[in-house]
Amino acid sequence: MTTILIVEDNEMNRDMLSRRLKRRGYEVLVAVDGEMGIELARTKAPDLILMDMSLPVIDGWEATGRLKADADLKHIPIIALTAHAMATDREKAIEAGCDDYDTKPIELTRLLAKIVTLLLGAPSLPHAASVPIRRIS
Ligand code: MN
Repeated sequence: MTTILIVEDNEMNRDMLSRRLKRRGYEVLVAVDGEMGIELARTKAPDLILMDMSLPVIDGWEATGRLKADADLKHIPIIALTAHAMATDREKAIEAGCDDYDTKPIELTRLLAKIVTLLLGAPSLPHAASVPIRRIS
């Protein structure tokens, strides 16, 4: 079964995302801060990580940097989640080593498309980067 690790400190966001991904057939692991996220990535080897960037203990930027600096873990795709659809956040996320980027509030259909693309092994960012950021209702 495909396992997705959600690293998110906001309980409501975490529970909602977890529930919706489980309903789609994914196995879900949750971490409430960056340190726990790194630990679970090491011990559970998830297939993909959804990383909130604003986190306690170790933030998402730092946690992503550490995961991508680890030869055993750097292959795990990471999708950065930030609250603001700002171009600087996207650039920062890529610089930090994230494989893709999305903004909160989560649009599940859009996020699932990015998850599926990364799980298939094709980097979705070059395409995503060429599409203007817009809210799909
Ligand atoms: Mn947060």
